[in-house]
Amino acid sequence: MDFIAPELDQYACLHSDEESELLKRINRETHLKVLTPRMLSGHLQGRVLAMLSHMIKPRRILEIGTYTGYSALCIAEGMTADGKIITIDINAELEERVRGYFAESPYSGKIDFRVGNAVDLIPGIEEKFDLVFIDADKINYPAYFDLVMDKLNTGGFIIADNVLWSGKVLMEEELMDKDTKAIHEFNSKVQNDSRVENVLFPIRDGLMIVRKK
Ligand code: SAH
Ligand code: CA
Repeated sequence: MDFIAPELDQYACLHSDEESELLKRINRETHLKVLTPRMLSGHLQGRVLAMLSHMIKPRRILEIGTYTGYSALCIAEGMTADGKIITIDINAELEERVRGYFAESPYSGKIDFRVGNAVDLIPGIEEKFDLVFIDADKINYPAYFDLVMDKLNTGGFIIADNVLWSGKVLMEEELMDKDTKAIHEFNSKVQNDSRVENVLFPIRDGLMIVRKK
């Protein structure tokens, strides 16, 4: 489901910064050589993430769901000079490709890429974060919220992708599949948590932006 007309999406892209050469290549190669390329953030959302990161100026970033590294490189753009990003993905098959892209990027020494199940890895991370991007398995979105809230600095942000889930969040709850239910549960959990301020941006598939008070 497209939330805005393709012509408007194109117009928005034409009036937003271009992707870097490396991001263009990751976008192209992901579509040619990797399964489910729809998962890649892409031009417009990538620029939105980069702009938000520039506004937040995070020193420590956690990303859950690396895929081919596109969004990690976008959110890395706004990091402070001493910034660092930890990004986690369970898919070992993409590891070599992703490490290659990161090595070519301006952030090579600043990206700590961990392969494994985020549910298992996050509790072992000592660091506190200024920005967390949640974009892995939808079923665990409520769990990720709980896991990262403790590790988020006051004034820090969580951005969660796909929170409109192609519009399926509007379904009657009894008819929802497991993923839709989990996303709806995540959105309600955030909405009802007095520790945070939040706004749901209907950009692409929906970005929930959360600020810890
Ligand atoms: N953030 C990327 C897209 C991520 S796609 C971008 O915007 O370009 C979702 C990713 O989550 C997939 O690569 C998948 O392997 C990963 N994933 C799914 N379940 C996971 C889990 N339990 N732990 C870590 N990663 C997981
Ligand atoms: Ca996504």
